[in-house]
Amino acid sequence: MCDLTKPIFTDEAAAIAHMEASRWPTDVTCPLCGVVGQASKMGGKTQAGMWLCNACRGKFTVRTGTVFERSHIPLHKWLLGLELMASSKKGISAHQLHRMLGITYKSAWFMAHRIREAMAPAAKDVGPLGGEGKVVEADELYTGKKRGTVKKTGGASHKNTVVSLVERGGKARSFHLPEGPDAITIGTLVNENVLDGSRVHTDESAMYSRVKKSTKREKVNHSKGEYARGDVTTNTVEGFFSVFERGMIGTYQHVGEQHLKRYLAEFDFRYNTRAALKVTDSERAARILSGAEGKRLTYRQVG
Ligand SMILES: [Zn+2]
Repeated sequence: MCDLTKPIFTDEAAAIAHMEASRWPTDVTCPLCGVVGQASKMGGKTQAGMWLCNACRGKFTVRTGTVFERSHIPLHKWLLGLELMASSKKGISAHQLHRMLGITYKSAWFMAHRIREAMAPAAKDVGPLGGEGKVVEADELYTGKKRGTVKKTGGASHKNTVVSLVERGGKARSFHLPEGPDAITIGTLVNENVLDGSRVHTDESAMYSRVKKSTKREKVNHSKGEYARGDVTTNTVEGFFSVFERGMIGTYQHVGEQHLKRYLAEFDFRYNTRAALKVTDSERAARILSGAEGKRLTYRQVG
């Protein structure tokens, strides 16, 4: 567990300095015009943390252009919230953040969603899974139907379908299917996210009938009680789902369907930065912080 008494979690100036060093390790890049190395720190007391860009004459802070922008929560509380979410196995609820950080429940709820957004990988970092001879397991989960942990907001029976692809020994990638599952949608997801030459392990479901022939689909027949045939199993993806479900039951109850995508980003992130891949708590927090840029959220987008 991290040291929660560190200055960056208690002192605003230390928090600002930490975020500036993280965002601009060498020269400061103006988030308004993109010019590098032309900004200088403003001096006045009321301008703490404010930078002036000599290229565009714009003023900005380390929050500008990040998920922290337009929030009144002090940055040291943001860093503490981020550290707590990075180091917990099952997630931290908005209620826990509200109590631990001394901020309103509404602020805590919004903070948690912004941190999840920062956990989502940038488009440039989303490469395909698998490769020649590698195993990618695929399975679906019907959260609302199975466990009642995800609040259903509509009448369709499979609105909360989640499909996860997990490379054995590698990364997970999860998708919410708001329209419910079908073979075309699921086939497209697998085909776009899994490299040719991979072995795709699934159960006997017809949902995978359109998986491309340039991969090798291998099935276990769950309806006949078969859970492994040689090294063909879906145990890894089922393990991923069980962590997700425990988190949803234990920490995040009553999740609206419109937010499911962000919770999936959180659980993918946690899986993809797990200790077994030699990622430490502080590296995990640093990755979230660097993901905070370029992902501004507004209440409208969250709502
Ligand atoms: Zn500028």
